[in-house]
Amino acid sequence: MNKQRPLNPINYKPANLVAPKSPGLSFNPYGRKLRREAAIASIKLAEAMHGAGKGILLIQSAYRSYSEQVAVHDKMVKSYGLKKGEAVAARPGFSEHQTGLAMDVSARGQGCRIRVCFGQTKAGIWLAKNAYKYGFIIRYPQGSTPMTGYQYEPWHMRYVGVFLATKMKKKNIHVLEKYFKLPPAPNY
Ligand SMILES: [Zn+2]
Repeated sequence: MNKQRPLNPINYKPANLVAPKSPGLSFNPYGRKLRREAAIASIKLAEAMHGAGKGILLIQSAYRSYSEQVAVHDKMVKSYGLKKGEAVAARPGFSEHQTGLAMDVSARGQGCRIRVCFGQTKAGIWLAKNAYKYGFIIRYPQGSTPMTGYQYEPWHMRYVGVFLATKMKKKNIHVLEKYFKLPPAPNY
């Protein structure tokens, strides 16, 4: 989905939302929820990142309902104006967070929380390189704004499953629109 492909129905709510938890690793302290398969994958991702010595993943935001997205969108547009606000916050019904398959992450103590510089932290570098093994992609990579409609967001991870994420990595195609030969979606 993107700015040309909203959810249908617009207030779609996924089934099987769960808050991922790992017994040894507090990576979801705010109890954010994902669809079950993405939640299980996020545990593996967090444990692998920690095991590689790249720190503790923190899920800042994951599933957001239609009405929660109304609030996020309003806040961003009020703070930054329509154009800048909508470059970072999707309209309700158009956010990947509403699918339960996307999460915004940071890493404990590494700074750059929800900022472009997260891509340069040891966690951000490791995630960009390894997240595909656990079925996640950096959905809005650098230089993809004309296709995705979003600025570079090294923190926004989308679960697409290990099979697709691995295929994208092998083909060196990192943008879903490009992989599926969908029209670019720079705007609504
Ligand atoms: Zn996000």
